[in-house]
Amino acid sequence: MHIASSTGSEPGSTARPGQEGDQQQEQPIRLGKSFRIGLSGPPGVGKSTFIEAFGMNLLSKGHRVSVLAVDPSSARTGGSILGDKTRMTELSRDTRAYVRPSPSRGTLGIVLAVNILSAGYDICLVETVGVGQSETMVADIVDMFVLLVPPAGGDELQVAPQWGMKKGIMELSDLVIVNKSDGALVDSARNAQIEYTSALKFVKAISSHWKPKVIRVSSKGGPEGGIDKAWDAMKEYFDIMESTGDLQAKRGNQRKIWMWRQVSSELLDLLNEDTQVREMANELESKVLRNEVMSGAAAHQIVQRFMKGMSSS
Ligand code: GDP
Repeated sequence: MHIASSTGSEPGSTARPGQEGDQQQEQPIRLGKSFRIGLSGPPGVGKSTFIEAFGMNLLSKGHRVSVLAVDPSSARTGGSILGDKTRMTELSRDTRAYVRPSPSRGTLGIVLAVNILSAGYDICLVETVGVGQSETMVADIVDMFVLLVPPAGGDELQVAPQWGMKKGIMELSDLVIVNKSDGALVDSARNAQIEYTSALKFVKAISSHWKPKVIRVSSKGGPEGGIDKAWDAMKEYFDIMESTGDLQAKRGNQRKIWMWRQVSSELLDLLNEDTQVREMANELESKVLRNEVMSGAAAHQIVQRFMKGMSSS
């Protein structure tokens, strides 16, 4: 990533006077048009507060920022809690940024949305509130996966085993940010930093060129809150990954993963459209529920039935 002096005439630079302060202007990111950053963390950790502060900071540096909030519950409820405009109010109002809630068309809709947003915004933040599956999915879309964690001592980390200390999510994380490192919470934020740093030592590195870091920030701390440290770490990651070719390789692998997900999704659609298969699947579902047929055997029968239908058509 190349840092340049003032780029006020960059495409899309519609900054209002007085918004940019004295910040040095950076060149937009060129590789594949966008730097995609996934942000995850438990509810209440401060994701929207961080994205608001971080996003505004990036805008002041001359970047164009989009935020896509991936909310797995929206698929079920038909609405998105992240669509609430009270979140990230400043960023939502800024013409240089684009904040949108979870796309409704499932996981492939999210990939499409990220690709579209990446064309117009050089930094694309993909926020996820889900626990489990949505993290893996987002990690398969973004260039860098960032985990936000609350300040806590070792005991508290044990209290929430599904978060942070869980190996799975640590393995996905390229950067861990201990948020709320301010006031009375600074000491426990330091403890958390130490805990996560040692936990990361036992996690297999994703790239041989990047060792995940743990930093502390205060999203509410203004310029002193360390938001710049977060961006420095992300830039460093981007530069290393790009110059070593790891980023291109990662994107290639991700495209491969999504190709196969698309194959699965299209095959499932075809399968569901076949009424005979559907009828058989309904029966088998009931049997699997009652534990009368093993799930693997049922799946095999469904696929066999589908193939038979295909070959006779
Ligand atoms: P989210 O659910 O992860 O999006 O969390 P929010 O951004 O809504 O923040 C949850 C609460 O934590 C709010 O009351 C915030 O004001 C507070 N909060 C967020 N970041 C910080 C921080 O850096 N320091 C402190 N002290 N509070 C914070």
